[in-house]
Amino acid sequence: MSTDLPVIVIGGGPVGLAAAAHLLERGLEPLVFEAGDEVGAAVRDWGHVRLFSPWRYDVDVAAARLLEESGWTPPAPDGLPTGAELVERYLEPLAATRQLSTRIRTGTRVLAVTRQGMDKTRTVGRDGRPYVVRTMRDGRVVDVLGRAVLDASGTWGHANPLGPAGLGAVAEDVAMPWLAGPLPDVLGRDRGRFAGRCSLVVGMGHSAANTLLALVRLREDEPGTEITWAIRGRSPARLYGGGDADGLPARGLLGAELKAAVASGAITLIREFALVSFDVPPGGDGRLGVSGTGRDGVARTLFVDVVVGATGFRPDLDMLREVRLSLDPAVEAPRQLGPMIDPDLHSCGTVPPHGESVLAHPDAGFYIVGMKSYGRAPTFLLATGYEQVRSIAAALAGDTEAAGHVCLDLPATGVCSVDLGDRAAVEAAGVGFATGGAHGWSAAEPAVTGCCGTSQPAAVGVGGQ
Ligand SMILES: Cc1cc2nc3c(=O)[nH]c(=O)nc-3n(C[C@H](O)[C@H](O)[C@H](O)COP(=O)(O)OP(=O)(O)OC[C@H]3O[C@@H](n4cnc5c(N)ncnc54)[C@H](O)[C@@H]3O)c2cc1C
Repeated sequence: MSTDLPVIVIGGGPVGLAAAAHLLERGLEPLVFEAGDEVGAAVRDWGHVRLFSPWRYDVDVAAARLLEESGWTPPAPDGLPTGAELVERYLEPLAATRQLSTRIRTGTRVLAVTRQGMDKTRTVGRDGRPYVVRTMRDGRVVDVLGRAVLDASGTWGHANPLGPAGLGAVAEDVAMPWLAGPLPDVLGRDRGRFAGRCSLVVGMGHSAANTLLALVRLREDEPGTEITWAIRGRSPARLYGGGDADGLPARGLLGAELKAAVASGAITLIREFALVSFDVPPGGDGRLGVSGTGRDGVARTLFVDVVVGATGFRPDLDMLREVRLSLDPAVEAPRQLGPMIDPDLHSCGTVPPHGESVLAHPDAGFYIVGMKSYGRAPTFLLATGYEQVRSIAAALAGDTEAAGHVCLDLPATGVCSVDLGDRAAVEAAGVGFATGGAHGWSAAEPAVTGCCGTSQPAAVGVGGQ
């Protein structure tokens, strides 16, 4: 394959831009396609939300080196940015650097990925064929060749449906006018939709928690605001979290505040609720009927003005239809990674640092990275993604030693319901346990401890039930 071809990066979010920085450092030519009009389009959508991870974990090292060359002033490592600040103080200046600005194409959506002249069924001569990335820009379809592809397109915009068993509820499509996205800006842009009205929040991730607490704040000014929170599970304990024991204090506080708001009666919590159908009011005006069943099978209908579906996200795999992938059948993450992040087993989201070998697919040179690499698991952290792309860039440059030496150090979470299990089994899956501060500005001592007995705990769930 021609080494003159670029490495194509799909998505100009934090991990896609970090990938470009690492590729450049390795002497490889990145080309980033970003669907939004500007980089960080997904993060901008939830710009009103404050991250739990302080800046030290939010900035990639290779990106920081590029930025420092351009005279960038790094934010205080312990500060907690909002999504908007992450864009303004980090992603925008990074995309504007001399090295990256010419290598990013915004307003360009990737429609599909394949290998030149080969559909998925063709094996002979497959290896070594360049990738063809089909893009759409200004209504025009353009195919671009790449020597490798990193899909860093995230999962934002692909929310899980609200019905049970992974399917939409009956009439979910018709109920759209009553459904808010997963993270509405309750105290800002979307205030009018919630003030003095009756809201139902569905879900048990941090997105749900953020919205619920914003609604509680709104209720202080707008006393008619009613808040109901429906969860499928029996207990919200996992979201209430580790409190003071949480390695990310902002996350511990969120859980503690939510618990207090439920205890005070500001939020009405409905447990074990399986949302089955919506009933749109006659004439399309008035409250939406939301029907579901509890664990005992007893039907119940709520009437609300707005529903916030915070039930997590799933990866868009349609555009990868022609690529030979190896995915975990449950989580839709790369096969070796899936069992380590399965949210059914790992409430804390603990995952050992992992790199190129864990993320590889049968089609060599193709990788899913960043938020999308976690498939349906909600516990991805930026620092994990930065280490993924460092390792992949090293591998693509032929530095197998650096690719295999995966390093990460993050604060331990205080909550984990299930043990990750046998370290030997995890190592057998090709996951290294070495640590060494390959992120942010902190150097770390080797450590193999954490809530699940691994070296890289602490994750944030942004959705899910
Ligand atoms: C509310 C919230 C809070 C979070 N808080 C934290 C935190 O505190 N700490 C932490 O470490 N992580 C946090 N995360 C998790 C995660 O780090 C973020 O979601 C992060 O934005 C993931 O980065 P990414 O680059 O993988 O994906 P994204 O930021 O989603 O970027 C993907 C980019 O790809 C573009 N794109 C999508 N499809 C296409 C296509 N077909 N063609 C071209 N471009 C495309 C999108 O427009 C987007 O710009 C949080 C997530 C959310 C939602």
